[in-house]
Amino acid sequence: MCGIFGIIGSKRNELGGILLKGIKRLEYRGYDSVGMAALDNGAIDVKKAAGKVDEVNKQLNFPKLIGNAGLAHSRWATCGGVTDNNAHPHQSCDKMITIVHNGIIDNFEELKQDLVKKGHKFSSETDSEVIAHYFEEKLASKSMREICVDFLREIKGTFAVLILKKDEDRIYALRRDSPLVLGICNDKNILASDIYAFSDLTNKAIFFENDEFAIVEKEKYGFFNKEGKEILKTIQEFKWEQEESEKKKYKHYMIKEIKEEPAVVKRLLFSLKTEQKDHFKKFIDLIKKSKKIVFTAAGTSYHASLLGVYYLHKCGIEAQTLIASEFRHFASVDKDTLVIAITQSGETMDVIDALKYVKEKDGKIASIVNVPYSTIQRMSKISLNILAGQEICVAATKSFVNQVTLLLAIAKEFGFKINLDNLPERIYGMLKSEEKISKLAKEIHRKRDIYVLGRGLSYPVAREVALKIKEISYIHAEGMMGGELKHGTIALIEDGTPVISLISNKDYDMLSNTKEVEARGARIIKITNEFDGDIKINTSNDGKFGILAAIFGQLLTYYIALEKGLPIDKPRNLAKSVTVK
Ligand code: GLU
Repeated sequence: MCGIFGIIGSKRNELGGILLKGIKRLEYRGYDSVGMAALDNGAIDVKKAAGKVDEVNKQLNFPKLIGNAGLAHSRWATCGGVTDNNAHPHQSCDKMITIVHNGIIDNFEELKQDLVKKGHKFSSETDSEVIAHYFEEKLASKSMREICVDFLREIKGTFAVLILKKDEDRIYALRRDSPLVLGICNDKNILASDIYAFSDLTNKAIFFENDEFAIVEKEKYGFFNKEGKEILKTIQEFKWEQEESEKKKYKHYMIKEIKEEPAVVKRLLFSLKTEQKDHFKKFIDLIKKSKKIVFTAAGTSYHASLLGVYYLHKCGIEAQTLIASEFRHFASVDKDTLVIAITQSGETMDVIDALKYVKEKDGKIASIVNVPYSTIQRMSKISLNILAGQEICVAATKSFVNQVTLLLAIAKEFGFKINLDNLPERIYGMLKSEEKISKLAKEIHRKRDIYVLGRGLSYPVAREVALKIKEISYIHAEGMMGGELKHGTIALIEDGTPVISLISNKDYDMLSNTKEVEARGARIIKITNEFDGDIKINTSNDGKFGILAAIFGQLLTYYIALEKGLPIDKPRNLAKSVTVK
């Protein structure tokens, strides 16, 4: 899930600064280690170390790197521990070849054994290093272009790779399943994992498809298919709203992004009536025409999809959802099946894999995506943008809210009763409970476990709140069906265990479940729009209740993590965009 970045044609003294800025914009993809390579007059200088970009930069001073071409990498380790040596870039024995890689080389052990027999010495435990030695070995008899063709044929696994050869002013770039895009500027070219990495430098991009490679120079480039035949590619012009990514007055991106929720909901609702109106209509028609609707998603997006299923069921439409990584084991798909993928990044590997299965079975694909031009959007027959803007904190907050808002807008077309126009105002009202929620966070931040209970629409929300608490506050949390607790988990309730109970409208069954745990000493935190509670939700609509209760959970998580002094925007072991299986 690493971020990769490469540039050719930079001014000599600007290289380090550009690489640093580019990789910072990709750091959300992984932050175990960071490294850079600079090519200057036939010499390559590599600097790398374990740690987040800012920490490592203090130590290694990346802006000092000079040259006309360079590579940068921020790692989310898949193979080999988080160490300085395992940080990318990796180099061949003679240092002729330098690479950065995002993905996993499945057959690296076989390749490595073979290369070791031939005398290659490896200096890291990663799968990626094999790429550098692979090219070095073949250089004795082949050109770089020929080796790229061999690479696409012989390498198993997923990759976006950028390669520098010491004596050439060009970058070789290859892709299979991991995202890669070329950004075209007048006097230089850039390669990166996403367009955001260079959106301040150009709005012209070419997306790599699977098993393509490119040879990129300062003012020209060529794209090739897996047979090595040159191919023509279309340049796409994109729009990006830049100012959103700045942290401005906030201490963390997480709270900034939560505070943006009223505005991004407004933007989405407006676009469904204007810019996305036709697409939206086509999306609805596609649902109407399909015999079977199956959502697929992972993590927070999966919780949004569970809500989607709930809303559609309320309108008499049969739908189901399956976690993407298990999709091919549990879903039956045919040509009348519409699979709706929900994904923030549009690059989630598990979702891509599920969609490949849908394609094999001739099913139809629609998607709900935040990052435009992403792989999943390009795999879909039709795709709607949730327009949440760039989300930098690893925890999904505003993107979840907009995914659910869009699902509500879809359900409304099928008869779900809701007035979405006042949703931004309701969210704004919820954000005013911030102080109360921060007090609650102070009270429970030392607890070992938190349980979150819901029923019907509040069940997916309970799971989402628990996920937020786990990933950002590092407290074990379980989001459960209120009715299920008594079938086992209630044994874990002790005196003072916090149990958050999400009770929408007159849900007396939820109220009973709440009383059951209260009777066993739990510290009940009641989130309700109908009864007396700790936090009052100001709506009588089930759809809006779900969103507002989720926002309560986002704020609670934020304030618990703040109280504990945790790295809120970059929690341990995680990355924003999960591009490995
Ligand atoms: N497999 C490579 C490593 O562990 C790249 C990881 C990734 O792309 O997430 O270094």
